[in-house]
Amino acid sequence: MSEIIIPLHGLTRGGQEFDFVLDDSFLDEFSHDVVQGLDCKAHIAAEQKGSWIEIHCTVTGQALVLCDRCLEDLRLPVVIDQMLTVRFDTEPEEVVNEDDNVITLLEGTSEFDLGQTLYDLTCVSLPMQKVHQQGGCNPEALARLSDEAQMESQPAMNTPFSGLKDLLKQKKN
Ligand SMILES: [Zn+2]
Repeated sequence: MSEIIIPLHGLTRGGQEFDFVLDDSFLDEFSHDVVQGLDCKAHIAAEQKGSWIEIHCTVTGQALVLCDRCLEDLRLPVVIDQMLTVRFDTEPEEVVNEDDNVITLLEGTSEFDLGQTLYDLTCVSLPMQKVHQQGGCNPEALARLSDEAQMESQPAMNTPFSGLKDLLKQKKN
């Protein structure tokens, strides 16, 4: 259970609003694989609409990821504006929702943990290719990576010239 709990019972007419902080401790509940760090604010508005509940999620802030090119820290803006619909059913596991934004919960469920949903929305909101802007990559990291790539593409390291190459490199530095 994350700390991002929305009560589903007794929502007042006109809706209720909730504010949460999504930071590194929020990430600890999930995974730091894609998103290494998070500094976001979530604003949630939940409103009873007859038999279902509408949940409007807005998240803004920054995510810390690793650049695909230079593998150094990269901060990306997070902007999410997503409407979710919560429906209820006596057998929610039998319900197939074609729309990812419709969530079916067991009839009578009194609260909804939005943590997983907000984590998923954050990951999906980030671009597929996570790279610094043109020229923004760390040049030292890029040089190191290209050296490593070269070494990997030359498995026969014990040639008479491999030592020479290192020597030349030292001189250059
Ligand atoms: Zn980079």
